[in-house]
Amino acid sequence: MLQTRVIPPAEGAYQYPLLIKRLLMSGSRYEKTREIVYRDQVRYTYPTLSERVARLANVLTAAGVKAGDTVAVMDWDSHRYLECMFAIPMIGAVIHTINVRLSPEQILYTMNHAEDRFVLVNSEFVGLYQAIAGNLSTVEKTLLLTDTAEKTAELPNLLGEYETLLAAASPEYDFEDFDENSVATTFYTTGTTGNPKGVYFTHRQLVLHTMGVSTSMGAIDSVRLLGTNDVYMPITPMFHVHAWGLPYVATMLGLKQVYPGRYDPEYLVELWRREKVTFSHCVPTILQMLLNAKAAQDTDFGGWKIVIGGSALNRALYEAAKAKGIQLTAAYGMSETGPLVSCAHLNDELMAGTEDERITYRIKAGVPGPLVEAAIIDAEGNFLPADGESQGELVLRAPWLTEGYFNEPQKGAELWHGGWLHTGDVATLDSMGVIDIRDRIKDVIKTGGEWISSLDLEDLISRHAAVREVAVVGIADPQWGERPFALLVIREGHQIGARELKEHLKPFVELGHLSKWAIPSQIALVTEIPKTSVGKLDKKRIRIDISEWQATNSTFLSTL
Ligand code: AMP
Repeated sequence: MLQTRVIPPAEGAYQYPLLIKRLLMSGSRYEKTREIVYRDQVRYTYPTLSERVARLANVLTAAGVKAGDTVAVMDWDSHRYLECMFAIPMIGAVIHTINVRLSPEQILYTMNHAEDRFVLVNSEFVGLYQAIAGNLSTVEKTLLLTDTAEKTAELPNLLGEYETLLAAASPEYDFEDFDENSVATTFYTTGTTGNPKGVYFTHRQLVLHTMGVSTSMGAIDSVRLLGTNDVYMPITPMFHVHAWGLPYVATMLGLKQVYPGRYDPEYLVELWRREKVTFSHCVPTILQMLLNAKAAQDTDFGGWKIVIGGSALNRALYEAAKAKGIQLTAAYGMSETGPLVSCAHLNDELMAGTEDERITYRIKAGVPGPLVEAAIIDAEGNFLPADGESQGELVLRAPWLTEGYFNEPQKGAELWHGGWLHTGDVATLDSMGVIDIRDRIKDVIKTGGEWISSLDLEDLISRHAAVREVAVVGIADPQWGERPFALLVIREGHQIGARELKEHLKPFVELGHLSKWAIPSQIALVTEIPKTSVGKLDKKRIRIDISEWQATNSTFLSTL
């Protein structure tokens, strides 16, 4: 250990813990009149937000919630969810943001595993909750969240209805200091194998993540997505990595915030228009849904900046959004990483290039944000050069990465093998620091001796005018090990078969952008591609569907 100079603090010097309460305190002092909006139902200003957080803290404390307890929330995106994201951790408890799109069995598993003691349930999920209530092992009390006039529901051990309880509670609460390394939030990864794993973040990590996101998105000029005059609306659910941490950022900066409840593309367009939203974030499939909405057809979305992450952003979607006036910026992260790791950034060299080159970099995963270290390693754990060519597993360090999986030390140790967080993504790094995600390790297609990126193939296929949506997976093949298989949703009035797709891909093979083995010899034409609970392509489900279609020689299939 280096013998550095460490000076003990002066007597009485305040040791400032990085706590979530500081974020709430910051935002409310910039613009007292900025609003928090929930659909067409509620709007109030920051002083009211602070007051309601204090009221909720009083309600929870009176109900018996103690520091260290886990309090779960089952809700769509709402102002109440935002209040919970503050009040629960601010009293030293842990908020479990339940992924309401998981199956009831998985929800039950996560609630028991997280040891939830209290649950706030939106009236829409009362039926779901009743179905699993008998098997919940740790829950003691429930609280009802509702927009309807009916202020009660058949919930076991119901404490009462949120608004009624808040109205009766004191608007003041003295939030104590405590250790910044206390766990503040938890949620479960939607892993494709085995049970979901519990990821958790501390106050310190969330405060640093908030600072990191605001710097990446607010201070780096080629990105510049977020300033205090922006109007924020999430389109990534609050249960998916706390809406990527943006509600904390928006609150710290005192932005106007718009919460849309359950996502309905037509209503999202209406809210965007009415509330003059300028900043959002979502996964590509949700953006596609939004662009397909009826209300979007004759709308110019000029001025709307959207961060796209969670899956690769392909060029066709980038261009479709641009044609509608939307400025897209790709970002990369995962549940385990807070999530923000990197954001598309164009340096002077790239800015001086052609528009085509700039787009190539705007859709890549981008450059690691401040404080994030990224490297790529081979299967033996050796570091590979950042030459834009060498492919290896992306590994990370940052002060806000989850430090393990809740109650699963073995899986946590695997995640952190060698002192770096293993992402499970294959990537290249170039000399400008740009991360290019090539594929998930388990989704790379190994055909003959070649490795083919399913993401590359999806990107090239999506450029065909007939293709509305595409997913590519590797399917076992006795001769080649695996063969690429493409699942397509076709635009109305268009047609395409395996042969036409081959013609479309051939020029890319000739240009050396694609291996000739990457051309699928079989495709399926479907009306919808299966998605995961957070709207990503569900490649596990897709593989199952394909093997069923192949076994029954389904009419969906088109073969070369
Ligand atoms: P999740 O933990 O469900 O948020 O999923 C994280 C995974 O999404 C990452 O490990 C990547 O495989 C994928 N992902 C996220 N952002 C991007 C991106 N910009 N490009 C490609 N893949 C991405």
